[in-house]
Amino acid sequence: MAAVDAARAVAGLRELARLTGDRDGAQRVAWTDTWIAARTWLRGELDGIEGVTVETDEAGNTWATAPGDSERCVIIGGHLDSVPNGGWLDGTLNVVGGLEVLRALAPEPHALTLKLVDWADEEGARFGRSLLGSSACAGTLDPEAVRGLTDRDGTALPDALAAHGVELDRMHVSGARLEDAVAYLELHIEQGPVLERMDLPLGVVLGTFGVQRHVLRFTGAHAHAGATPMDVRRDAFLAAARSALAFRDAAAAGDDVRATTGTVRVVPGIVTAFNGTCEISLDQRALDPAVLSAMLETAKADAARIAEEEGCEVAWERVWEIEPIPFDPALIELADGAIRDVAGTSHRLPSGPLHDAAEMARVMPTVMLFVKSLGGVSHTKAEDTPDADLELSVRALYELTRRTLDRNEG
Ligand SMILES: [Zn+2]
Repeated sequence: MAAVDAARAVAGLRELARLTGDRDGAQRVAWTDTWIAARTWLRGELDGIEGVTVETDEAGNTWATAPGDSERCVIIGGHLDSVPNGGWLDGTLNVVGGLEVLRALAPEPHALTLKLVDWADEEGARFGRSLLGSSACAGTLDPEAVRGLTDRDGTALPDALAAHGVELDRMHVSGARLEDAVAYLELHIEQGPVLERMDLPLGVVLGTFGVQRHVLRFTGAHAHAGATPMDVRRDAFLAAARSALAFRDAAAAGDDVRATTGTVRVVPGIVTAFNGTCEISLDQRALDPAVLSAMLETAKADAARIAEEEGCEVAWERVWEIEPIPFDPALIELADGAIRDVAGTSHRLPSGPLHDAAEMARVMPTVMLFVKSLGGVSHTKAEDTPDADLELSVRALYELTRRTLDRNEG
């Protein structure tokens, strides 16, 4: 079997960066001309592979198909779209790596069909709704929830879609393409510091974090900074601050979980008084649903205890939640083996950000590979990964794809 040309993938990524970026970074925002330029480049590459057909579905996703003896298929997916002033690898690595895997495997006889999909609008950079094309395909997009979205210039989402031949109310029809799918594979940059700190190029992703996001309102009573003795104060800010520390400490003692207080609002917020009201946010993340709900219970108990100690009350309001989305155990094993054979060592880690793979995991066995991000940065032009590691990642994707095709044969 022909090996994958991983260096060609890196060269392709550079070419794409040159064609669709400027001195501020990648500019492939979905539903813009630069995004179309990126897709035209991809189409040109795919047209050069014999036996591969290319189509765009009802949700604007581009599909390249290398037919096998059976309609049953393995899907490799990524996204060419970027945030404004984005990086050269986020999303494109999976597409361009997948392109080279397709180029290597298409001419070989294979029982299963192999598909590469470029999802439309993963980032949601223009209209604020991420995973648009993949959620439509997975059947989780509610058209009513996005119909009223507009961009900064006032253009409505349905109009921007229509300009690209996509009808919002028909996007779900794209889901028919998943009917014969047996596995979904996605290679992505980590976008965090974990692999680099372990000095490892590659890791297997266990799933995407569940999130519990709340706003907590602490209520005491504000009074004068000079007139009020320390022992009679009901300082809502201090109750909130102590709670935020308790959330941090609990998460730090946990196993690969997160707790973040990102916003603080105080009333009255003047230098000559302590505060009677303080609102903070709490964003909690974990891969295990039981762990996530236990974290929330602990946080509620801590905040209630601390509020009482500070003479305050606390009320919780849920802002958003999403359940953890675990990937397929058998595919995780397969990916682990592919990485070990290519790079010597593997590591298993959860994903903080959501990816198109999270939508696919709802409907079929799914796994992701992560490659190290230098400095753990992404969504900026500083986003980078050494060429040697990028090449390893494409070889790992190739190995994983080959093994997934073999495993599902017969
Ligand atoms: Zn991405």
